[in-house]
Amino acid sequence: MDIRPLGLDPSHCLIGAEWIAPKSGQTLPLINPSDGTALCDIAAGDAEDINAAVASARAAFEGPWGRATAVERGRVLARIGQLVLEHKDELARLEALDVGKPYKQAMADVVALARYMEFYAGAADKLHGQTIPYLDGYTVYTLREPHGVTGHIIPWNYPMQIIGRSVGAALAVGNACVLKPAEEACLTALAFGELARRAGLPAGALNVVPGAGAQAGAALSAHEDVDHLSFTGSVGVGKLIQTSAAENIVPVTLELGGKSPQVVFEDADFDAALPFLVNAGIQNAGQTCSASSRILVHESRFDELLNAMSGRYTSLKAGPALDDLDVGPLVSQRQKQIVEGFIAKGGDLELAASGEIVGDAPEGGAYVAPRLFACHEPDHTLAQDEVFGPVQVVIPFRDEDHAVAIANGTRYGLVASCWTRDGARQMRLARKLRAGQVFLNNYGAGGGVELPFGGTGLSGHGREKGFEALYGFTSLKTVAAYHG
Ligand code: ADP
Repeated sequence: MDIRPLGLDPSHCLIGAEWIAPKSGQTLPLINPSDGTALCDIAAGDAEDINAAVASARAAFEGPWGRATAVERGRVLARIGQLVLEHKDELARLEALDVGKPYKQAMADVVALARYMEFYAGAADKLHGQTIPYLDGYTVYTLREPHGVTGHIIPWNYPMQIIGRSVGAALAVGNACVLKPAEEACLTALAFGELARRAGLPAGALNVVPGAGAQAGAALSAHEDVDHLSFTGSVGVGKLIQTSAAENIVPVTLELGGKSPQVVFEDADFDAALPFLVNAGIQNAGQTCSASSRILVHESRFDELLNAMSGRYTSLKAGPALDDLDVGPLVSQRQKQIVEGFIAKGGDLELAASGEIVGDAPEGGAYVAPRLFACHEPDHTLAQDEVFGPVQVVIPFRDEDHAVAIANGTRYGLVASCWTRDGARQMRLARKLRAGQVFLNNYGAGGGVELPFGGTGLSGHGREKGFEALYGFTSLKTVAAYHG
């Protein structure tokens, strides 16, 4: 299949206003995870291309983009959002082919990307500083200023959504960005760069350099002229990024995934909870930072919930992304091996139910049938480690304290939810659960472009999404004027 996102040559990088081949001339193959065939070649950017991209971002920051007013920045973001919607079918198809996610889920990501652009377009001129009462004869105020050049290293699981929340917020407050998409899935990042260009974003305000993590990613995170880093991906690479940020003493936002629990009390509305419990585990084949891979349920209703979830699992179908079933393939054969390794480690647990890989799914696709396990050991690997595949465990608890202890008993802390009709318990759990987002009687709140998001512990630090992200992409300057 020859893929040309928006007519572009995917083996090129966006640097300044131009699409150019990487200096080394090297490319990497991009694989369609639904059938294992090559989609196209992408640029294998390296340090030289990153240097050019950072220089171009710096020039934009010191030039026209740095001088743009908040209103002008907002308008260009709004135009990008409009173009995203105008190209929604093509973008959804690219994302489905590239990531392997079912088409409907890819379309939801396109809509979310447009929403991020709309949200940050509207927010661009709403961020302001404060005046601070001080000594007699002084006027003191604060200015929120962009960092300068921001580096964005993103993963393959939700390229469009993560571009929206990260690049969208950074641009809204006037940073110039260098985006390094993942080598497994970068077509919509390229398309986004082109749409931004067509929308009139000044040259260099957004540069896109695909390439391998160890080359392009490492070069971007180590670059001395980058003023802020934001990274979404694995804990291991997150540590490398934080180490690079430490070398250059630059702020860094890390979103590194989780082992997010949903806690179901005995008084919960099971019918309302059921779709959330399952969908939060299998959406994007479980390759979601905020996937809910642990379901905690009161022991008195353990069997009932396990049966109900098993009923759903046995109806789940995995197949090619464009067939738009419940679950697509995993992003790569490598990811499939990792997930199968975890499933093998669940050999000592009770396998409650499995989904099905459809009979005509191509041999070369990276398919894994969804699996649901009953787990009476909260310390089990499947209840502790992030699998990043369509695997959930159901764990019983005795009482509220026990539930909180299990829920908080991993090294992660990204998202949690609590299902109960007891209002006081909802409030207690909202405080006690260790997570950056807590949902009460729902999970995920529909994606939540407006809702601050980020974690604690191994899930990372810093907040993206919502208005809160704008604080992370700015630094605060205090001005004290003495006038007598
Ligand atoms: P996953 O394990 O889920 O593929 P990674 O954390 O490896 O996730 O990748 C997320 C992003 O980090 C990708 O864009 C990848 O290219 C990039 N990356 C991988 N290794 C490095 C590295 N050493 N330095 C900087 N970026 C990296």
